[in-house]
Amino acid sequence: MIIAIDGPAAAGKGTLSRRIAEEYGFHHLDTGLTYRATAKALLDAGLPFDNEKIAEGMALKVDLAGLDRNILSRHEIGEAASKIAVMPAVRRALVEAQRAFSKKAPGAVLDGRDIGTVVCPDAVVKLYVTASAEVRAKRRYDEIIAGGGSADFAAVLQDVKVRDERDMGRADSPLKPADDAHLLDTSEMSIEAAFQAAKSLIDAALSRNT
Ligand code: C5P
Repeated sequence: MIIAIDGPAAAGKGTLSRRIAEEYGFHHLDTGLTYRATAKALLDAGLPFDNEKIAEGMALKVDLAGLDRNILSRHEIGEAASKIAVMPAVRRALVEAQRAFSKKAPGAVLDGRDIGTVVCPDAVVKLYVTASAEVRAKRRYDEIIAGGGSADFAAVLQDVKVRDERDMGRADSPLKPADDAHLLDTSEMSIEAAFQAAKSLIDAALSRNT
C-alpha cells in the first residue's frame, strides 16, 4: 500500500506526509533527504558536485535508516542536492533504494518530486501538494525567523523560484503532477484542512482496494 506525495519545496508535503503516515501506521520516507545526504557526503569530503561518477558512488552508499532532517536541513545542502538531482546515475541509485523502501508492510508514504511519476507509478493514492511561490517563501521565511535566524524575504522568494525552475526544468524525472494525481493547493489551506482533504481521498482509495 503506497501513498505518493509530490510537490515543490516548502509546499507543506513533509508535514502532511508525516501526519498521514502516523494516521495509518505506515512507514514514511522523505526522499529529498536521500538527495540531501548524497550532497552532504560530497560537501563533507570536499568533492565536486559536477562529477556524475563520484556523485553516483556517494548515492550508492546512502543509508536510508540514518537520514536526519535536522542535520540535512541546511540551505546549502538543499541547493547542492538539487544540483546533483539532475544526474541520471544519481537518480537511478537513489530511486532503487526508495522503491525497496516503498514495499515495506503494511504500507509506506513517500514524498518527493517524482514519486507518483517515476518511483511508484502504481501508488494507490497520489497527491500533488502545491502553493504559490509567495506563500511557500513566506513559510520558509517565518521558519527561519522562528528558529532565531535572519533572512531577507526577497532573497528567500528568489531561492524558491530558482529551485522550482531547476526541479521542473530538468530532463530526467522533472517535477510535475502524475496524470492521476489529486491536486492539493495549500496556499489558502491550513495543514489540518489539507490533512482532512488527503484523508478523505486515502480512505476512499483504501475502501476500494480492500
Ligand atoms: O525536498 P527537499 O528540499 O529536501 O529536496 C532537495 C532537492 O532534492 C530538491 O530540490 C530536488 O532537486 C531533489 N529531489 C528530487 N527528487 C525527489 C526528492 C528531492 O529530485 N524525489
